[in-house]
Amino acid sequence: METVNHQLNIQKTEHSRLPSEPLHHIPFGRIFSDHIFVATYDNGTWEDLKIMPYSNLTMTPAMAVLHYGQAVFEGMKAYKSATGETLIFRPDANFRRINKSAHRLCMPPIPEEIFMEGLKELIRLDSAWIPESEGSLYIRPLYFATDEFIGLKPSTHYTLIIMSCPVGAYYSEPVKLIVTDKYIRACEGGTGSAKCAGNYAASLLADKEAKALGYDNVIWLDGIHKKYVEECGTMNLAFVIDNVVVTPQLTGTILEGITRDSVLTLFRDQGVKVEERLISIQEVAEAYDKGILQEAFGMGTAATIAHVSKIGYQGRDLILPPISERKYGQSILEQLEAIKTGKVPDRYGWVWK
Ligand code: PMP
Repeated sequence: METVNHQLNIQKTEHSRLPSEPLHHIPFGRIFSDHIFVATYDNGTWEDLKIMPYSNLTMTPAMAVLHYGQAVFEGMKAYKSATGETLIFRPDANFRRINKSAHRLCMPPIPEEIFMEGLKELIRLDSAWIPESEGSLYIRPLYFATDEFIGLKPSTHYTLIIMSCPVGAYYSEPVKLIVTDKYIRACEGGTGSAKCAGNYAASLLADKEAKALGYDNVIWLDGIHKKYVEECGTMNLAFVIDNVVVTPQLTGTILEGITRDSVLTLFRDQGVKVEERLISIQEVAEAYDKGILQEAFGMGTAATIAHVSKIGYQGRDLILPPISERKYGQSILEQLEAIKTGKVPDRYGWVWK
C-alpha cells in the first residue's frame, strides 16, 4: 500500500544566480535555475517533498542507478506569454509518459499530485528564469533508483527531481542526417518507447560516428529488417511525400513524442493528409528520385521542428529543398510556437497556466 506524506517544504535561495542582464544566446543545458524539487520514495512511502536551492546531491557509491541504470526522465518547456503569464506545454502528457517509462523499468508510479505540485511550485518560484521572446525554460524531471545495494533487483528507494534550465532556440540550422544500419536504437520488447537513461547512452556511439562524417545525427532503422525508419537522433521524424505527411507508426520501439502528437493533431485538423505507418528508407529514397520528397523534419520538445536539409543513405546524399520552399514543417513550427507562447487561443487544452 502506497502512502504520500504530502507536505511540500520550500527553502528559497538567499543568493539568486539569475544574471542581471536579459538571458540571450543561452547554451542548451548548461545554466540551471535557482531551485530544484526533490521527493523521495522509501519502501512504499513518498516523503520529504521539498524545493531547495540548486545544489549537489549526496550519493553512495553503491547507489543502484549508477550500476544498473534504473532511471527515467522527461523534458518539457515553460514559456512567457506577451502578458507575462507562465505557460507550460502539455505537462500532463509528460507526467503520463514518465510513469509509463517507470513501469517498463519496474519502478513505482509517481503520484500525480506530487509531480504536478512540485512542478507548479518550482516553476512559480523560478519563473524569472523563463527567457522572454525566443527562448523558454526547459524542465527536466528525473527519477532514479537509490538503494545502497549491489545486486540486480528493483530498488526499494527512489528519488524524483525536477530541475530546469533556460534555453534559446535549439537548432538554428537545418539538420543533416545519415541512415545507420550498423547500430539499432530499439527492438520489439525492448525499451524503445520508454524515456530511460540507457537508451541515450546506447545512442552515443552512432551519434559520434555520424558527426565524424559531417552529419548532425542518425536516422534509426527498425531492429529486425533494418529497413523501416524509426526516429532521428532524439526526435520523431516525418516526411512530406506528394503533399502527404508520413511518419512512422507507434510500434512500441519508438518514443511516443508529445510534439509528434501535437503536430499530427494540428495537421489533421487543418485537412492535411497524415499517414502513420511503416515507411521504409527505400521508399524515402524512391520518393526523392521521383522528385516528390518535399520535406523531412524532426519533432521534439527541444527543437519543436528541426528541418532536415540532407539525408545520407547508401553513400549518397538526398538534398532536400530549401526551407523557403517548405509549406508544412515551417507552418506547423510557427503554429505550435504561437500556441505554446499564448499568441493564439489554445483549442486543445495543451497550455497550462
Ligand atoms: N524520440 C526520442 C528518442 C526523444 O528523446 C524525444 C525527446 N523527448 C522525442 C522522440 C520527442 O519527444 P517529445 O516531442 O515528447 O519531446
